[in-house]
Formats: sequence, structure tokens, C-alpha cells
Amino acid sequence: MAKNAIQFQPGMSLPAFLERYGTEAQCREALMRMRWPGGFRCPHCGYAGHCQLRGRPVLQCIRCKHQASLTAGTLFARTHLPLRIWFLAIYLLTPHKNGISALSLRRQLGVNANTAWLIKHKLMQAMIERDDTKPLAGIVQLDDAYWGGERHGGSTGRGSPGKTPFVAAVQITAEGFPMAMRMDVVPGFRKTALAQWAQRHLAPGTAVVSDGLNCFPGVTTADCTHVPLVTGGGPASVAHPMFQWVNTVLGNVKNALHGTYHALKPKYLQRYLSEFCYRFNRRFKLQDLIPRLIYAAAHTPPLPYRLLTLDGLAG
Ligand SMILES: [Zn+2]
Repeated sequence: MAKNAIQFQPGMSLPAFLERYGTEAQCREALMRMRWPGGFRCPHCGYAGHCQLRGRPVLQCIRCKHQASLTAGTLFARTHLPLRIWFLAIYLLTPHKNGISALSLRRQLGVNANTAWLIKHKLMQAMIERDDTKPLAGIVQLDDAYWGGERHGGSTGRGSPGKTPFVAAVQITAEGFPMAMRMDVVPGFRKTALAQWAQRHLAPGTAVVSDGLNCFPGVTTADCTHVPLVTGGGPASVAHPMFQWVNTVLGNVKNALHGTYHALKPKYLQRYLSEFCYRFNRRFKLQDLIPRLIYAAAHTPPLPYRLLTLDGLAG
């Protein structure tokens, strides 16, 4: 799809969204169809006949009376919010190229600051987990990047203290058109770190194009081939045609994050990077963004607060 065609394709309008997901009953129905596409079956006895309990997102088997929660096992588990508020959050969160802050979400949803933060971070986590199921393949441009400073030139170069390192990877077609991307925080740019990253996020047989940084050949342990490009470093290397996309998206993501989020904690950087990539990777089908994120949330396990705040996790 040409750039203009991507830019001007219609997303879902607010009236269209409200028509589809405006009531709690519609949201429950949508979630139920996503969780049980072949129709609800009682998890206890397998019977299909069921009724919905009044006022609660609970389905009851009419044979054995077993009660199944509509939200259990999903990102919406144990939520005190109506599903229509969650779905509205998804509507607000998905179309903005530069993301939407928890503060904006709070104002627009009429919830408190903590709730807005939780909604935002849970949905970003759903985006991470969804894209983690889709490894990049074919030809992938790879670059090292840092949050908290610019990579090229001066004392703010590679490995400066206080920077959070991450890998930026763009899958391109043979014609050089970008198809998909991912950005992942890594412990550092060592061969083993790159090997582990490649094993998780690249399909075997991927051809990796990168500059000559020592760690990049690490991808070969994940059955990928490595094509080093010696660009000489310095500002001139950015202009190298093979690095056009990876540098463009790096510039875009940094502008987007700086412009939308004023105090982004490094421990949450991954979620913000993944949110940006998630949207980029679905830019050909803006119409589907909302149902697809609802689907992702319905298939993302619940996130206890401890995990959501990353307390107790290394790094
Ligand atoms: Zn039953």
C-alpha cells in the first residue's frame, strides 16, 4: 500500500465504534465470541446451554449450574470497570500514531489516575505479548539504539552511562519496503544478548543486515545469516541507504515518546516501544485495530499488579 493510501484509510469512527461496542451487553457479547468462537461450552461438563447472570460478567451452565467468568484468564480478569470503559480505552489508545498518555486517558474516560495508568499499561502489555508471537523473517535491518540520548556523535555515543540499550529491527521486502518492526530493550550489546534476542524474535533463516558492531554476528546462533555493513560510523553512516528504515523508525519512535510522555521510566520503556511497533505493524488495516486489540486482550493472561509494575524483576 502506498504511503498516502495508508495515511488516508479510514479508521473506525466514534459513531461506528459506539454502534458496535456502545453498551455493556455488546462488549460482553464481543468478548464471548472471541473467547469461545465456536460457541460457549461449560468448562465443567461441556454443555453448550447457558445463561448470563444479571449484572455480572458470568455465564452459568443450565445443566450443571457451573459458573464461568467471562473475564477470568484474560487481561480484564477481576476488573471493577465495565467492559465498555475498557473497550473505549482501546478505542482511544489505538489510532494515535504517537500514543496517548495515561493523563489524557484519565480525562477522557473519567477514571482516576491509578486506574488510567493500569488500563494503559495492561493494554500495552497485551500489545507486547501479541507481537511476541510473530517473529520477524526474511530480510531484517538491525541497529543498536539507546533511550535517553542520541547515539551518533560526541560523548553520548554507544554505551554511554545512564542510557537504556535496545535493539531496533525492521523487516523489509526485497524492494526495501518496511513490513514490520520490533524494538526490544536488551541488557547490553553483547553477542550472547543478541543471540538470545534473535532466538526469541527472528525466524530461522532470517538474513540480518547490520553495521559492523561486534555483537551482531551473535544472530547466527539462531540460524540466521548476518550481512555486515561497514558504514564507518559517525553522522554520515545514518545516510547509508540500507539503514534508511531502521534510522527513520528510530527517529519517529523517539519523537513520539518525547512528545507524548514527559516522564518515561526506563523500566517501562519496553511497553512504550512495543506500543509504537504494534501500531506500525498494523498500519495497513486501521479498521481492524480495535477488534484486534480486544482479541489480544482476551487472549493475554491476567497481570497482577506486582508484574505490571515490574517490582522484583531484574533490571
Ligand atoms: Zn456444565
